[in-house]
Amino acid sequence: MGKIKKFLLTEKDIPKKWYNILADMPNKPMPILHPGTKQPIKAEDLYPLFAKGLVHQEMNDKDVWIDIPEEVLEKYKIYRPAPLVRAYSLEKALDTPAHIYFKNESVSPIGSHKLNTALAQAYYCKQEGITNVTTETGAGQWGTAMALATKMFGIELAVYMVKISYEQKPYRRSLMQTWGAHVVASPSMSTKAGRKIITENPNYQGSLGTAISEAIELAMSTPNCKYTLGSVLNHVSLHQTIIGLEAEKQMEMAGEYPDVVIGCFGGGSNFAGISFPFLRHNFTGERKTRFVAVEPSSCPKLTRGIFQYDFGDEAGYTPLFPMFTLGHNFAPAHIHAGGLRYHGAGTIVSQLLKDNLIEAASIQQLDSFEAGVLFAQTEGIMPAPESAHAIAAAINEAKAAKESGEPKVILFNLSGHGMVDMAAYDQYLAGDLSNYSLSDEEIKANVSQLEQIV
Ligand SMILES: *Cc1c(COP(=O)(O)O)cnc(C)c1O
Repeated sequence: MGKIKKFLLTEKDIPKKWYNILADMPNKPMPILHPGTKQPIKAEDLYPLFAKGLVHQEMNDKDVWIDIPEEVLEKYKIYRPAPLVRAYSLEKALDTPAHIYFKNESVSPIGSHKLNTALAQAYYCKQEGITNVTTETGAGQWGTAMALATKMFGIELAVYMVKISYEQKPYRRSLMQTWGAHVVASPSMSTKAGRKIITENPNYQGSLGTAISEAIELAMSTPNCKYTLGSVLNHVSLHQTIIGLEAEKQMEMAGEYPDVVIGCFGGGSNFAGISFPFLRHNFTGERKTRFVAVEPSSCPKLTRGIFQYDFGDEAGYTPLFPMFTLGHNFAPAHIHAGGLRYHGAGTIVSQLLKDNLIEAASIQQLDSFEAGVLFAQTEGIMPAPESAHAIAAAINEAKAAKESGEPKVILFNLSGHGMVDMAAYDQYLAGDLSNYSLSDEEIKANVSQLEQIV
């Protein structure tokens, strides 16, 4: 028999509970603050915005394990469990003694991990009799996830899509429209927040921060409508822990345990998903695994931002989050990894980084595409430009292992495939892409505009 390449679980092995790291953290995140009173937010404050079931998960720092509802498990079965794969061909190409594994979240019908939380969010909305939801989308993955999830649960969806992606990634728009969503390019004239930005800067290509402002505004002004968010928040990370919980069982099947776990980082959800279930064994002292969150060099909130209270959106509609940020008005360069163009980071991951329980690294755009192409040529899967950042970091770890001669077990999350991102690869192959450097002065200038809140 040859070597085992894929570690597969069966439907009955799908985890029945999500892992709530909030209950386990040595230092819990500081509270989220009401932007007006600067007092800690209460659950009631969030009810107008989010389904109650999700608000309770957001605030729950007591229960380590949260039951996954039966209806959500049923939908997970369409594509879960996701395979864990040993990247033998990539190892060979790198001539490394390291063992490289990846969790393949690209097998979901939308091509990324985002459906894991979209299904849960649509379920809790449906439970509470909500008929309409709004959201924003960057590269389009979150919008497609919500479009499919709301279609499955019978809810209407309006999506504000960052303008540059709306233009660069028309196929994701078609996918959302196929699943019945109403898609609007952001900034748009349909909201006060959008009109203000367009008036001040008519050529603005949009950002996640702006699109969030628009989606929140529409949700707040529409009856029986809630807003949904695809990353950053605690409940989103909670739902994504299904990734790491499956991977934990699969690494056991492989007879190994990761020395380093890697995820690309936009707002933190897929990184949280692959990491948190393994991190819990560091908390108990059983393990000393390293965890690396990988961001683009052009949007370096973890490696070069500051830890401070900031808004989650551009217009300042959201509560204040204690997080690593580049400032809510930071306009990142138009790199193709649209899902990583966000100014801030989730509060849990931010606290973990502050406490040195995880690490952060940044990758230049050209290095991410080089890694993506090598991965496609060796493992056969076109990675999403976002996921290519995790691959680049995994390759760096494998190269370091070669230099030191130490065997090392590397696990990264393949958050999605790049079959709808081929325009970006086209530009890379044609030599039309570049790196973006950001000076300390630019970062300082942006961050210094942040009001010192506490
Ligand atoms: C959205 C997205 C990301 C970034 O979001 P996180 O919340 O940080 O995971 C990464 N990879 C893919 C494929 C995505 O769609």
